[in-house]
Amino acid sequence: MSDCLFCKIADGDIPCNKVYEDDDFLAFHDIHPKAPTHVLVIPKVHIATLADATEQDAALLGSMMDRVRHIADEALHLDAGYRVVLNVREGGGQEVMHIHTHILGGKKLSF
Ligand code: 5GP
Ligand code: ZN
Repeated sequence: MSDCLFCKIADGDIPCNKVYEDDDFLAFHDIHPKAPTHVLVIPKVHIATLADATEQDAALLGSMMDRVRHIADEALHLDAGYRVVLNVREGGGQEVMHIHTHILGGKKLSF
């Protein structure tokens, strides 16, 4: 989507502090971190929100969780643990309407 911030980051039109990339996903540090480690994992294809995903996206959503696990382990070394957050639409606190998973860690997180 031409007017989507995370599509522009995925296309390389806007820079990011990249942590991981493969054919389908990109991970980069959040610009306003809410924890010592705060990384966003996005699919390169545009899906606005989890609520807009369909059954056809099930494999992609599963792969996103697999990448989260891989990135938290191999790239971020969050051996003590981490939190995974996926905000959905305005009511869920989602500000960027391109589906993304937050990985938060580096300190003990309270709820
Ligand atoms: P949301 O609230 O939509 O779940 O999370 C969006 C996240 O994107 C926020 O934590 C925000 O700090 C981050 N963010 C917004 N704009 C940018 C940007 O241009 N670059 C990066 N790296 N992160 C951004
Ligand atoms: Zn997008």
